[in-house]
Amino acid sequence: MRGITIESAKPPKRRKKLIRRLILLFVVVFVVILAFDRIRRPNVDERDLINLSQIPIRKSFSVKTDKPIKELKLLIDNQEVINIKLDKPSNLVSFDLSPSKLGIKEGEKNITLKVRSGFFWRSYEVKGYVDLTPPPLNTLKVSNQLYVGSAGAIKVRSEKDANVSLECLGRKTPLTSISEGEFFGLFPITLDSPLRFNCTLVSKDKAGNISTIELSMSPNAMRFRQENIELKEETIRRIGLSLIENSTSLDPKQIFIQVNERLRRENLSELENLSPKSSSKKLWQGPFLSLERAKVISGYGDLRYYILNGSKISESRHMGLDLASVANAPVKAANSGIVVFARFLGIYGNTIVIDHGLGLMSLYSHLSEMLVNEGQSVNKGQIIGKTGMTGLAFGDHLHFGILVHGYEVNPSFWLRERWVQENIERVFLSR
Ligand SMILES: [Zn+2]
Repeated sequence: MRGITIESAKPPKRRKKLIRRLILLFVVVFVVILAFDRIRRPNVDERDLINLSQIPIRKSFSVKTDKPIKELKLLIDNQEVINIKLDKPSNLVSFDLSPSKLGIKEGEKNITLKVRSGFFWRSYEVKGYVDLTPPPLNTLKVSNQLYVGSAGAIKVRSEKDANVSLECLGRKTPLTSISEGEFFGLFPITLDSPLRFNCTLVSKDKAGNISTIELSMSPNAMRFRQENIELKEETIRRIGLSLIENSTSLDPKQIFIQVNERLRRENLSELENLSPKSSSKKLWQGPFLSLERAKVISGYGDLRYYILNGSKISESRHMGLDLASVANAPVKAANSGIVVFARFLGIYGNTIVIDHGLGLMSLYSHLSEMLVNEGQSVNKGQIIGKTGMTGLAFGDHLHFGILVHGYEVNPSFWLRERWVQENIERVFLSR
């Protein structure tokens, strides 16, 4: 009772002051909440916004934010097309969009993305394009003399900015745009290919619309030899010392398996990794040159069994041509191009790789001397090094390889003028 008496006894001046303080406190709390909410507003990943600027016939989009969001809206020319409310806030929201089902026509659009974590929305405006036309796609020409282990060429016509590729047996090879709307590609017929299979030619436009064509391939079979290579313990020890660490603690069989299996795999993947460096220009012209006055001592695809003290300890596929002439014979660039690799490479020893453009490269291994540097342009016939026996080699020879998008194909075909003319150059020039 006493307290109430005191309160009511307050003069009006003091009461006014209290009210003012309460209002001030209320304003401060409101401003803090507002500021806090502004800080809590989510930011959308830049790439997702760029992605939203191209909308195809049908596509799944995802929006990533730096803070978990409760709600997302997407508007196309002010028409709400997506509204997602999340029971559990998330940093990643995905949705499918098919403009034609929503009655949206092809053309330039104003796209608005709105997201919120708290009370207020964050809004993004994107200038976009709805593309409801799949890219045109037709095959102009495909190589007609295909062999297991060889390569083929394909020329197609599609939309100017499209991304065109050929998928065969799970392997995807890109086609390169060589003039407006024209694409060319080389593809390997891998050694494990069956004699009949289908490939899918895929063209994807900027928005993501896809057109495909099924192509049937029937390569000719090839016979591959089998050979037994007798190994000597001292030879293995010598090779082990130059190729792997701590080889002295291993027995000859272990050394050889390390070199022929683990090191081979590592070296092959390093060669494969060179393929994205290939030029988008065709740098080669006509057939490839072989080592002069040389004998083929080992063919492509040969299956090699390695024998030590009477038993088979390892095996490998020979993925190139072994050419032998005199020791330290001059090695010429088989065709014009750019040196993309000139270094020691495990079992391949001193190795030069020349890029001829459009995914085609040539490989020269076991060299005793390398006379060119990485990045250097070379002309067909220019001397680039000398033969030798560095790496896994049992005598002076040149291991010559041809890579098509990182896969070693049979080089023999590329040495034949007629095959190159009919299967590669003619396809390249077809219209
Ligand atoms: Zn070889």
